[in-house]
Formats: sequence, structure tokens, C-alpha cells
Amino acid sequence: MSFDKPFGGGQRQVHDVSSLGIVCANCGTAVAELPFMPTKRMDGTYGKIFCRECNRNRAPRGNFRNQ
Ligand SMILES: [Zn+2]
Repeated sequence: MSFDKPFGGGQRQVHDVSSLGIVCANCGTAVAELPFMPTKRMDGTYGKIFCRECNRNRAPRGNFRNQ
């Protein structure tokens, strides 16, 4: 008996968004995969999307320094 996990290899599921031409809103790096599927807005953009590095560097919670 073996237990099959829903996600193979124990890796997080990622969506391939390389065909969408999304670039990081912070550093401009092309974003090829995301842990979620972005939704296009009415203005034709996907809103602010950050690459993996910038996501990691942003404060996880609190400590927001907008403006
Ligand atoms: Zn970035």
C-alpha cells in the first residue's frame, strides 16, 4: 500500500504563465511561473505581479511602506 499525494514530487503546483508576457512590477523580470493563475483586468493588465525573488523580499505581513 502506498499513499499517492495529489501533487507529484512534493513540489508546489505552479502555473506556466510564460506565454502571458508578465513582468515583475518591481524589478521587471519576466515572470514564467506563478503559484496562482492571474486574471486579466479590464485595462488589459494582470495587475501588480511580482517575481519569486521580489515576492520573497516583500514583507510577508504588516510593515507596509506604501507612499
Ligand atoms: Zn521582481
